[in-house]
Amino acid sequence: MTPKYIFVTGGVTSSLGKGIIAASLAKLLQARGYTVTIQKLDPYINVDPGTLNPYEHGECYVTEDGAETDLDLGHYERFLNTPTSQANNVTTGRIYQHVINKEREGAFLGKTVQVIPHITDEIKRRIKLLGETGNYEIIITEIGGTVGDIESLPYVESVRQLLWELKDEDALVVHLTLLPYLSSTHELKTKPTQHSVKLLLESGVQPDILVCRTEHAISKEMRKKIALFCNVDVNSVIEALDVPTIYDVPLMMLKEKLDKTVLSKLKLSAKNDPDLESWKSFLTRHKNPKHEVRIGLIGKYIELPDAYKSIIEAFIHAGAFNEARVRVQYIHSELIADDNVAQKLGDLDGILVAPGFGDRGIEGKITAIKYARENDVPFFGICLGMQMAVIEFARNVIGWKDAHSTEMNSKTKHAVIDLMQGQKNITKKGGTMRLGSYVCELSKGSKAYAAYEKSKINERHRHRFEFNNNYIKDFVENGMQITGVNPDTKLAEIVEIKSHPYFIGVQFHPEYKSTVLNPHPLFVKFVKAAVQFSQS
Ligand code: GLN
Repeated sequence: MTPKYIFVTGGVTSSLGKGIIAASLAKLLQARGYTVTIQKLDPYINVDPGTLNPYEHGECYVTEDGAETDLDLGHYERFLNTPTSQANNVTTGRIYQHVINKEREGAFLGKTVQVIPHITDEIKRRIKLLGETGNYEIIITEIGGTVGDIESLPYVESVRQLLWELKDEDALVVHLTLLPYLSSTHELKTKPTQHSVKLLLESGVQPDILVCRTEHAISKEMRKKIALFCNVDVNSVIEALDVPTIYDVPLMMLKEKLDKTVLSKLKLSAKNDPDLESWKSFLTRHKNPKHEVRIGLIGKYIELPDAYKSIIEAFIHAGAFNEARVRVQYIHSELIADDNVAQKLGDLDGILVAPGFGDRGIEGKITAIKYARENDVPFFGICLGMQMAVIEFARNVIGWKDAHSTEMNSKTKHAVIDLMQGQKNITKKGGTMRLGSYVCELSKGSKAYAAYEKSKINERHRHRFEFNNNYIKDFVENGMQITGVNPDTKLAEIVEIKSHPYFIGVQFHPEYKSTVLNPHPLFVKFVKAAVQFSQS
């Protein structure tokens, strides 16, 4: 079958949740038996978000094939339970880079290279790439930004061209807008929605379906009014109320028949009713916890929780699995010191030290790890968090007071964390870390092995530094084990302290692979250990 294309645009304001609406629609279509994937087009000029500070754009999400991408791809994977790839996230920077490289190669000799057609052709090629794999019946493309932004124009123009090229039943546009509520007059206002549809129309795009974010239910009359003014069917005005969790959105969209409306416009059969049993049972467990645990997330970007999006979602998945509400306490590593650590961390049932780069807040992380180790508090260190656990152990158990990572101190005598060999000659920053999925072999009898219940795993990475294998013997003799190793390079992927109830550090990022239907085993076991700790 020729693939069908759904474009999701946003109007009125940013942060309305286009990614969640796209992922929810995809979930419903998938639950009806269709193969679906979602792609995000980002209008900024960075080639990928890998070089962006998390304060700017939230977490950088990493795919199996090692693409550094927008955090919305994390939502797509968590909802659909299928991996995404480089092709699922394209930025303006990447589009221009490709076109300019081709220009230098002489591909356009004699021609003036322009936004239309050269940039729009490249955008269209990227959109159609996923359809051409033959793996998907439906491709949902989310256009980042808000309609009317200068940066979004080439994308909207590309959508216009594709709508013109494709048959009517092969493509449609879902436009997400906001109905603001005026509390003084108790009314929802439709004008901003009308205006954002007008903006789309100025670019030659008529949306087929409007999804309206609203704090209050939309009356029948108001739906009719929106339909009339915006040129859509009444049943194509979809209400998207605020809900307690993003995981409620697919069920809300099902109630509003978003999936059925989409299928009928694309002339696809509704097939079976969507199979959402396991989704619903996850929601029941999430909403009816039997336990409650407090887990400290120690990081330096805690003012913006989006910087740790996948970790927070992984806790929701693992919490539901354990029938536990996980209360994540965001704790700034810069504020932790020897004289306040007990007071700051004393009421936690688990401590997670987050990934990161550079030396800001490092000593606070090490102090928090020492506290977890000495007080038997369940500990989970991810990437930089694992590296800091190694440094803490070297300093306070082995006794090398100057132990450090060469990322923070290139002159230390005990460089227990050091730059990977393959990184030593790299000078460019973009896309040059050890990225994506690598295999790891687990030692039988370890906590990691007990969690995964197998000896060969694949996990995603994003780092330049590694455990220095010259010191293995000293660590093992003192009680820190290396329980996960890359079989090809011998790179240490997991460290554990056997005598501790739950102390695991991982060089990879397990949070990227946790989904609603497959909560990550290491998060599941960590939350379980926290529940036990809270009861002890
Ligand atoms: N800065 C560390 C490294 O590059 C850890 C990276 C991370 O936490 N993602 O190895």
